Amino acid sequence: ALEQDREATDRQVQDRLQRAAELAARTMDQQLASWQQFRTDGVSLETAPVLKVTPRQHVAYEPGGPIAAQPSDPALAEAMQYEQVRGNIEAAIPLYRRTAETGGPRLRAAALERLAACYRKIGMPGKAMQAYRELLKFPDQRIGFLNAELIARFELCALREGDREAFYHDLVAGRWGLDKARYLFYSETAREWAGAKDPARAVERGKLALSAAIEDYLENRRRVLPGYLAFSAGNETLMIPAANLRSRLERFATLDNEIRIKLAEVSAPRPSLAAFHPLADRELPWLVEAVPLDAARLYAGAGQSRTIYLTMLLLVFALLMVGSYMTARAVKHELEVVRLKSDFVSTVSHEFRSPLTAIRQLSELLQRGRVPTEEKRQEYYALISRESGRLSRLVENLLDFSRMEDGRKQYHFDRLETADWLRELASGFGRTNVTLSMPPELPPILGDRVALTSAVDNLLDNAVKYSPAGAPVVCEAEADGQELTIRVRDRGYGITAEDRDHVFEKFYRGNGEISRQVKGAGVGLSLVRQIVEAHGGRVDFDSRVGEGSVFRIRLRTA
Ligand code: ADP
Repeated sequence: ALEQDREATDRQVQDRLQRAAELAARTMDQQLASWQQFRTDGVSLETAPVLKVTPRQHVAYEPGGPIAAQPSDPALAEAMQYEQVRGNIEAAIPLYRRTAETGGPRLRAAALERLAACYRKIGMPGKAMQAYRELLKFPDQRIGFLNAELIARFELCALREGDREAFYHDLVAGRWGLDKARYLFYSETAREWAGAKDPARAVERGKLALSAAIEDYLENRRRVLPGYLAFSAGNETLMIPAANLRSRLERFATLDNEIRIKLAEVSAPRPSLAAFHPLADRELPWLVEAVPLDAARLYAGAGQSRTIYLTMLLLVFALLMVGSYMTARAVKHELEVVRLKSDFVSTVSHEFRSPLTAIRQLSELLQRGRVPTEEKRQEYYALISRESGRLSRLVENLLDFSRMEDGRKQYHFDRLETADWLRELASGFGRTNVTLSMPPELPPILGDRVALTSAVDNLLDNAVKYSPAGAPVVCEAEADGQELTIRVRDRGYGITAEDRDHVFEKFYRGNGEISRQVKGAGVGLSLVRQIVEAHGGRVDFDSRVGEGSVFRIRLRTA
């Protein structure tokens, strides 16, 4: 049962984890479905008709190709012809200068840029620098694909005439929208200028990564990019750094303070005590994993039936012990009864045999006329009478006992004149050393004369039996209001502490040497008690070993 219980507990815990994982997956799915909520974490792209990245500062360059170039102007076209096709730079310079002075801002900026380039080509850096400084006055103008300020500052820096670090920082900050090729061209040089320790380098790396991820997405339309995840709705796409998304989803789906929810890599090694659930969005590279924060606590919550089992086991064990003890006791008692009964049979037969033998021998002697004197004959008659009295008392006892055992014993209650009855009883007992001591007047009682006689007889018989030969036995009687007490007092051997609690039990005979020598069936005192109790009275005794005993019968007066 414990084994099964443990399995059940394991299952329960596993189920609980499984449910937590499922619930978390559902919550995450709902979150992902409303991806707008992650807007603050990510960068969104509008891919039609032109790619637009918001917020712009997140990317290093504009992914998705070059930004449209400016259409060229006819006024510049002539100067370019001289400069670039014919190689006549001297002719080109004045043409450029004229446009730089007279054209609109866009044209002037374009002309200044070319002018500066021409001065450089013919080895006049001073003039070139002057032209670039002039170009700085048109920071927002575009020259071809490029921004005028970008060109001017870069060239000035190249001529050691500008703040090189500031240039790099502005480049990284995305001051001038650039396509990839141009960004890489400028950044390569500017990075060198800034030096390896510049913190802007790390920022640039992040931006380059996002730009690359966007390019990757635009080319392959893949959901899972290195370090990013793309979510599309209509023509808009949200790029979210995977780490951000992951921690936010995990935090969002953790509802239980006993179970931790994680997004585990699909290929990551799996702990043994954990449950997994896939996300509805199968393209995501994660599984929802539920692990217990404290395994012991989770188990404690689940495994309560174990204590119940153990308690039950203990209970069953205790019952078994009690049952065994009871059985053992019953068996022991039963064996004792068997022993007592067999003892009883042998002692009873013995009890019968000796008076019978005496009677037979004496009557034979008398019958054959072998007794010479009248005196002797009288003595033998008395002996025969006493032995037969003993026999009939024995038979009476046994019959009474068996009647009582069967519940057939019937009492005939009569008014008994106590003093007369006791006097008659004592004289009928026929032992010389028994004396009677009582006041002349005693109140009468209501009782069965034969039964009560037998009870007192038994006490007197025991008193004589369990005393040395000739020791005095006194039968006392006194009345105290409603109660008559009859005491049988002897100076005999007394009753040992061991026997004290048992002498009234059926078939019980004392354990000592004395009781073994004295004849008896062990039913006397049990009869006494039954008789007295049938009269509504009580019987008890005091005894001291070696000094003697007093048995008391208390009866209600009539
Ligand atoms: P029995 O006398 O036949 O053995 P009883 O029921 O009359 O059986 O007595 C039970 C036991 O009580 C006796 O075996 C004896 O050990 C003890 N007993 C009874 N009366 C006395 C007494 N007056 N003095 C000492 N022991 C006694």
